Amino acid sequence: MFFRKLKNLIILNAIFFYHLGYANEVAITFDDLPGQQDLSAQKLEPINNQIITTLRKFNAPAIGFVNEYKLYSKGQTKEKIAILKSWVDNGFSLGNHTFSHHSLTNSNLDEYEQDVLKGETISKKLMNEAGMDYHYFRYPYLDMGRPLQKRTAFEKFLKAQNLIIAPVTINTDDWKFNRSLNQNPKSKDEVIQKYLAYTRARFAFYEKVSKKLFNRNIKHVWLLHVNLLNSLVINDLLKIAQEYNYNFVTLDAALKDLAYLSTDTFYAATNQSWLYRWDLSKNKVINWSDEPVLDNNLAIIPNDIKFAIKDDIKTINKQTVAENQTPD
Ligand SMILES: [Zn+2]
Repeated sequence: MFFRKLKNLIILNAIFFYHLGYANEVAITFDDLPGQQDLSAQKLEPINNQIITTLRKFNAPAIGFVNEYKLYSKGQTKEKIAILKSWVDNGFSLGNHTFSHHSLTNSNLDEYEQDVLKGETISKKLMNEAGMDYHYFRYPYLDMGRPLQKRTAFEKFLKAQNLIIAPVTINTDDWKFNRSLNQNPKSKDEVIQKYLAYTRARFAFYEKVSKKLFNRNIKHVWLLHVNLLNSLVINDLLKIAQEYNYNFVTLDAALKDLAYLSTDTFYAATNQSWLYRWDLSKNKVINWSDEPVLDNNLAIIPNDIKFAIKDDIKTINKQTVAENQTPD
């Protein structure tokens, strides 16, 4: 009896410590709320609802980054604001993704800053009314701005506004698959299959990179978008994260990881993971051509490597990046 109890205790302890210290952690972030601008509130509602319901089923916290220009479509503003409110009512946070979704590099700094302020009118109010703190900013296209002077000036502005940059370590390029689904709805099953395979490949890759850079798997931040595709497969996506042994945590919790204090002198108008920025800012120990990327048919191919440090743009691989590929 005693030994059986002891054995149970050991097993319980093992489970406890497993969850305490050894499980991976990821914060889920959704960009471009409330979804594609050209979709009606009636189409956006089920997309958002499906995502919200599934996140709740998995007990997964999340934050949604809003482009408020999308709220002002004729006769639908009330309904679109109600969609944002449903995120907050379900306990999820909202963050700032600028009003208009422009890239910082291609914008006038003053205008961009005004666009940030304009972009939080409704979201901040909804958050504050629910007693929640509004304090995260996500760069459209993950573009932190070039040249360095512009980047630094904008970071000062963010600080003055009490806005914290929301980085991304796991980027699964969902918008490319969603675009393909929109262009050819009949290809749904194939697109989904490729998307899930790619998500697995990228989860595996970023874990490997993290272990090489930090000797451990850091707390990750996963970038997704509110779109039709993700509403169809959100259950599968969260299961994949669990397959890779991830627990779901808030962005606040993930960013407590000291990895996020790493030096980052990388800047460029690209949508690269922060793991890439940290590596290229420091040791350059990762072979980034191992990073799974996609060709135009959504097949996985080796990566191209372009980076800019202190305005010095270099290409360390012969393949050229398709310049016209930008996230929505
Ligand atoms: Zn975006």
